[in-house]
Amino acid sequence: MNKIALITGASRGIGAATAIKLASKGYKVCINYIRNSKAAASVCDSINELGGTAISFKADVSKQQEVRRLFSYIQTELGEVTHLVNNVGILFTKTDFTQITAERFSEILNTNVMSAFLCSQEFVKRGDSQCAIVNVSSAAARTGSPFEYLDYAASKGALDTLTKGLSVELASKNIRVNAVRPGFIETDIHSDGGEPDRVKRLSSQIPMGRGGSAQEVANTIAWLLSEEASYVTGSFIDVAGGK
Ligand code: NAP
Repeated sequence: MNKIALITGASRGIGAATAIKLASKGYKVCINYIRNSKAAASVCDSINELGGTAISFKADVSKQQEVRRLFSYIQTELGEVTHLVNNVGILFTKTDFTQITAERFSEILNTNVMSAFLCSQEFVKRGDSQCAIVNVSSAAARTGSPFEYLDYAASKGALDTLTKGLSVELASKNIRVNAVRPGFIETDIHSDGGEPDRVKRLSSQIPMGRGGSAQEVANTIAWLLSEEASYVTGSFIDVAGGK
């Protein structure tokens, strides 16, 4: 079977590691990104140089028109997407609840939840070769991230609910829908929150005593997408070192 994976937000971090992992397992991959074309090209190059097949496409996946353009481009270049990783997620400077504006809350929900909804809908609408979706949630969905990222945590809670409902709606079509919930993972996202060294600071609170790598999350995503997980749907895997 021709396996074609779309990984949203794959120019950096967990998305990039997932694209590289899937390419090593024989998937043709599309690296989606929003701004950083240099980083996206570098992920593509590293895959193509190793004999894999990767393309990149700039699209804001919180916007329906751009999602449609993204899927059409992949269809033309590689064929229909068979495996989808809804990885895009953003956060803003950590702050307590009273300082979160309505605009900020709305932007977080729009990017973190709407993107997964739109991409999943487009994915399912486009034929009958689709196999699996993995949503990248967060341990924040369990903790609520009080005093730091309540808006972000709420968006991940919504993503978990979307995962559950979608897994049931799509089960009879044989499309599996699961989620991973990473804990503290070393990526650029912590700089966006205003604390690049966040993972180091919090390491002592993690039962395994360290933060995780993007590669460790990618390995779990790749397993959930694979045939080895053929009877797994509507499930959530914490990739959080015991936290
Ligand atoms: P990251 O390093 O900050 O990378 C974010 C990626 O998303 C980049 O490729 C960025 O593209 C892309 N992006 C952002 N908004 C986009 C949009 N609207 N449309 C298309 N692409 C967009 O993030 P990360 O830490 O790898 O996080 C990946 C996922 O894991 C997120 O859902 C995050 O919530 C989740 N997660 C992360 C952690 C952690 O500790 N790192 C923990 C729990 C959950 P550009 O390069 O073009 O900017």
